[in-house]
Amino acid sequence: MLELSTPVQYVKGVGPRIAEVLAAKGIHTVGDLLHYLPFRYEDRLNPRGIAELRAGEMATVIAEVRNSGLFRTRRMPIFQLTVGQGRARLRCLWFNAIYLQDKFQPGQLIALYGKVEEDGRSRELQIIQPQFEILGDSSDGENGTEKKAAESLEVGRIVPIYEATGRLTPRWFRRAVRTALDNLTPDLPEPIPAIVRARLGLISKRAALWNVHWPEPGESLNDLQSSRTPAHIRLIFDELFFVELGLELKRRQQKAQTGIGFRLDERVRAAIKKILPFHPTAAQKKVLQEIASDMEKPYPMRRLLQGDVGSGKTIVGFEAAIIAIENGCQVALMAPTEILAQQHYFSARRILENAGYRIVLLTGSLEADRKREIRRHIAQGNAQLVIGTHALLEEKVEFAKLGLVIVDEQHRFGVMQRLKLMKKSGVDEEASQASLGVEGSESKPQAGPGEPDVLVMTATPIPRTLALTLYGDLDLSVLDELPPGRTPIVTRKVNDDRSDEVWEFVRKQVRAGHQAYVVYPVIAENEESELKAAGKMYRELSGKVFADMKVGLLHGRLDADLKEQVMRMFQRGELQILVATTVIEVGVDVPNATVMVIEHAERFGLAQLHQLRGRIGRGAAKSYCILVTGGKVTEDGEKRLNAMVRTNDGFQIAELDLELRGPGEFFGTRQAGMPSFRVANILRDGQLLEAAKREAAAVLAGPNSEISSEEIRRALIHMRALWRHTYGLVEVG
Ligand code: ADP
Ligand code: MG
Repeated sequence: MLELSTPVQYVKGVGPRIAEVLAAKGIHTVGDLLHYLPFRYEDRLNPRGIAELRAGEMATVIAEVRNSGLFRTRRMPIFQLTVGQGRARLRCLWFNAIYLQDKFQPGQLIALYGKVEEDGRSRELQIIQPQFEILGDSSDGENGTEKKAAESLEVGRIVPIYEATGRLTPRWFRRAVRTALDNLTPDLPEPIPAIVRARLGLISKRAALWNVHWPEPGESLNDLQSSRTPAHIRLIFDELFFVELGLELKRRQQKAQTGIGFRLDERVRAAIKKILPFHPTAAQKKVLQEIASDMEKPYPMRRLLQGDVGSGKTIVGFEAAIIAIENGCQVALMAPTEILAQQHYFSARRILENAGYRIVLLTGSLEADRKREIRRHIAQGNAQLVIGTHALLEEKVEFAKLGLVIVDEQHRFGVMQRLKLMKKSGVDEEASQASLGVEGSESKPQAGPGEPDVLVMTATPIPRTLALTLYGDLDLSVLDELPPGRTPIVTRKVNDDRSDEVWEFVRKQVRAGHQAYVVYPVIAENEESELKAAGKMYRELSGKVFADMKVGLLHGRLDADLKEQVMRMFQRGELQILVATTVIEVGVDVPNATVMVIEHAERFGLAQLHQLRGRIGRGAAKSYCILVTGGKVTEDGEKRLNAMVRTNDGFQIAELDLELRGPGEFFGTRQAGMPSFRVANILRDGQLLEAAKREAAAVLAGPNSEISSEEIRRALIHMRALWRHTYGLVEVG
């Protein structure tokens, strides 16, 4: 009998060689194989008669090969196949398909799937480039009974279609999956508590695994294609439930730790008021309230502050910092780039230093001596606000009394990575066990100053369902209002044969006293030959086009001092035009800059374009974003640019971005912290995700009449195994 954890090579017909091919697809165990779901189903129970086909429909046809042949036209070779049912005939065409030449023999039974079309001239129906599968292939050397059994997997039912991989055809998968199911142990572990299964009407795991591959005859093809059959729902819920259970457990563990209960009295309030350079927006007030009330509690804050570019997150972070500092604690503020860390340092000094707060900047590029000195300041507790890059985390800086960690612009990090990061920093070390009464872990949380609060700030407006998954261990605050007096940014798209007009426009804006960014996708020409590069264009713009103006160059390869110098000059208005790469993408704040020219705009992702555009429109003057395209623009590229022209709303942009790229890419790479789901799709399965979150919370509320401690124990054990093996994280639980 096979268990779900049995290595896949022990499935009959797999063996070590094929197991290797499967491993490349992430299929290592029987369970992995059974979660390799069909991407499509074909109704071969009621295949269409050729005579009843209509132009325009998608259809499955099962018919006999009559004849086939390759003919060459002037433009390309075309392969033509004619199939028949009795007298009825249907023609199929494949372009450039020389490889099909010897594929078919008259008399073979074949299943075809594709869009039925009417030939313009002959008015006959045909299918162009259909997907096909030869059902009666005499060359695979099976004996009679096996062949019959195999055929029954191919016709007379709804048939699962798997994505082929290498030489493993959909047919091969059908048989392998079937064999695995036939030999699967009858008693699969059932780690989801009974009451949860009942509430959601979930079918058994065994039934789900069978039906998802071999649907029952009456099953709706629509539900199958949209992954909405009871079998799909069961498997999707499974996956989401254990991810949410892990996150929920994490959240509870965090709350079970001893934190710091900051005091928020009149003195602290007055200190906050004193530094504010402007009236906070209603949204800023509300969000600060949420943060402050977390900070007052005796357990550690874990909060995500989400707000579109320019919504004013920085000042909220500073306000939180004051609460901690006024309570005698230190604060660490971490930014993803040195430039941004520097900028925070400048504004912190501008806003906070007058009030007497002691601020230091600690970045990787500082000289060793200077670093040592700063570290000493931090260790002795002299430095109250420590600003740095994420390297701060990695380098294990010692604080005298760290009370609050602020992580800025963390849109590139998903939950998995963040958990790893916090672990590394020691922020979450020695996480105490959530006391569920079922874990047998009596270890008390350590005494001492208490875990610091953590505030994560991000500019990526994440759709709620995604926030639930990616940041399920955090509480969520949203800044949903921009500071007053902003005029919406005007965005235009132009081809680069109109560069002269673009430069003329930039010139006018600069003459009027404003500043401009010009952004390129690469630094040097040789990186990607046909792209204009920042380095070369800097020479051209500063030497020729804007010879009479002050132009600067900023990119990642400059050494840190120079970077700082350029940025500071631009900030002070000593440079009028800044030629840059995407180093300026995140967080840079120069309100006098009103023009953002992005060359090769078609090369940038939507989130990136939005971030870049977020560098302007920060003051009262009207701002302009000019998206210059050079070269061919793909269909998706066109969609991205049009979205930019259409809206300034980061939320809408994020949703479209997510749609265009899919959740995996949306957050950069897989490693950037998306749990890589096998069957779930968070775009499609938002409702199930919410249910999973709710039920995970119910389970962790502890044993009661509905859920026994034994059930909770089983669920947690299963969850830990999953997190360890699938997500490579051991720190949960
Ligand atoms: P982000 O949320 O993108 O980090 P910032 O914190 O950099 O935004 O703020 C954007 C700009 O808006 C800054 O110049 C900041 O000083 C200004 N700002 C923030 N809050 C307000 C406010 N309530 N009133 C006026 N200006 C504000
Ligand atoms: Mg910011």
